[in-house]
Amino acid sequence: MRLSQFHLHTEKETPAEAELASHRLMLRAGMIRKLAAGIYTWSPLGLRVLRKVEAVVREEMNAAGAVELLMPSIQPRELWEETGRWEKFGGQLLKIRDRKDAEYAYGPTHEEVITDFARQELSSYRQLPVTFYQVQAKFRDEIRPRFGVMRAREFLMKDAYSFDVDAEGMAASYAKMHAAYTRIFSRLGLRFRAVLADTGAIGGDASQEFHVLADSGEDAIAWSDTGRDDADGYAANVETARAAAPGPRPAASEAMRDVDTPTQKTCEAVAELMGIPLARTVKSVAVVGRDAEGQPQLVLAMVRGDHEVNEIKLGKVPGLADYRMATEAEILEHLGSEPGFLGPVAPAKPVRVVADLEVAAMADFVVGANRAGAHIAGVNWGRDLPEPDTVADIRNVVEGDRAEDGGTLRLIRGIEVGHIFQLGRKYAEAMGCTVLDAAGKAAVPMMGCYGIGVSRIVAAAIEQNHDDAGIVWPEAMAPWTVAVCVINPKNDPAVAEAATALHDELAARGLDVVLDDRGLRPGPMFADMELIGIPHRVVVSGRGLEAGTFEYRARTATEAEHLDRASLLERLP
Ligand code: ATP
Ligand code: MG
Ligand code: MG
Ligand code: MG
Repeated sequence: MRLSQFHLHTEKETPAEAELASHRLMLRAGMIRKLAAGIYTWSPLGLRVLRKVEAVVREEMNAAGAVELLMPSIQPRELWEETGRWEKFGGQLLKIRDRKDAEYAYGPTHEEVITDFARQELSSYRQLPVTFYQVQAKFRDEIRPRFGVMRAREFLMKDAYSFDVDAEGMAASYAKMHAAYTRIFSRLGLRFRAVLADTGAIGGDASQEFHVLADSGEDAIAWSDTGRDDADGYAANVETARAAAPGPRPAASEAMRDVDTPTQKTCEAVAELMGIPLARTVKSVAVVGRDAEGQPQLVLAMVRGDHEVNEIKLGKVPGLADYRMATEAEILEHLGSEPGFLGPVAPAKPVRVVADLEVAAMADFVVGANRAGAHIAGVNWGRDLPEPDTVADIRNVVEGDRAEDGGTLRLIRGIEVGHIFQLGRKYAEAMGCTVLDAAGKAAVPMMGCYGIGVSRIVAAAIEQNHDDAGIVWPEAMAPWTVAVCVINPKNDPAVAEAATALHDELAARGLDVVLDDRGLRPGPMFADMELIGIPHRVVVSGRGLEAGTFEYRARTATEAEHLDRASLLERLP
């Protein structure tokens, strides 16, 4: 590939709107261009990277025996009514109408569509097990799309769905996908970890997430440090993490003084979790804890109508000593409302502020909700509420707790790049999907579903692999593996010729190589190649040709080396 015939458009300036390194670097490298909030065009350069990720995902899915299909992104409302998710999925579901006034959703996920396909296609246990997958654009109307393609509204996902006759079959299909995911992230050259996870809006029994480890990650992960060097110990998203025995609890953090009252953001987060369209109803959020005397303290915040904060009271009462989840009964007592206080409660009930809490005590708070387990578990710290200094202060588990495998829990941050679920019969049952079993009786198949954020992986990889000069791609994801940079090609035909010959030879050896024949001065040319993260750079110059050498530098090396042709070829992959 000749760069002069490509479209590379890099920027020197750091874009002001980008908070994360990956977002900044993707914009500066010209990989993506924003069209609207959370909606991006992938430039030719960006697309090369995206396609590399996709290729690895596809190869490993095929190798694991999954078969590819392609489902529509537009899905009829009726299908979503069958599972009850037209209402339950919440604000992330983008609903649209056609000219006949029929309603559709832009697919945020495809359990309904695949189950509809399966109930038409599958009739006998002999067709099972089978795992279908696709790589396709999804749309989720995220409350706060941010960090570029990391949390986009339109994004590329690989989603797979398995069908088995029984629970053992489902577990085996799940294990295959777990192994395939492990191979995918290993091949992509990422530092990652599989952790136990909450099943969220998708539902089901068992589930694990795959996280790329990075300090900027939105999720916190608790993992068990057993002193051994293995990655198989207990590890869980803190949303679900449990400790076998508590360690010493830190006092409410000083850092929490900056934490705001449970405002709009909390309400939005809880409302989203509960699948309630916030704009149309009245919402409340409860904060509960115990003061130093052991007295329960409850504060309610109400949000009315269109994100308008109605009533919030937090003030100056000494710190809470202890916390737990507000029970539904407690919340109802204070609200005087029917069950489902987060459901459509109209008009606003009077709110009684039971106590004011010192802001510092917010370290020990939970967010109320109308079902157990949907409390602090569902809040995404940092995204939904300001992140305190030590995440340990606000979790079910803290650094130093004992894990069930005897290790000590440690907290690290991760970016969720994959999520696998054992769904059981939930969708097949709701949608009347059956196959005839060996005895000739109708049986409901057991499903699993498996997602990978293909486009998010690109950003996550950059979070983990960059330096001051730019992106440092793992080889498997780089837009090109080798850049052959030509010094002064226009005035030095011999150099241009030698560089082209080297480019052609490397390409013939199967290397993904780009010839930088744009005629840029060395400084800007090298800066571009570093910014876009090409793993291997070879410089062809008049001086080098005279000496019979090429200048070689790995993206991760600090110094360039002068190598003859044979040594150069040895260095390249
Ligand atoms: P998150 O917790 O980050 O919102 P999720 O749990 O809602 O993700 P899943 O339903 O598990 O996402 O979807 C499968 C995968 O799709 C995720 O593991 C993630 O990699 C990717 N993904 C989800 N939402 C987005 C998004 N808004 N932008 C980019 N990728 C996403
Ligand atoms: Mg989500
Ligand atoms: Mg998640
Ligand atoms: Mg998930």
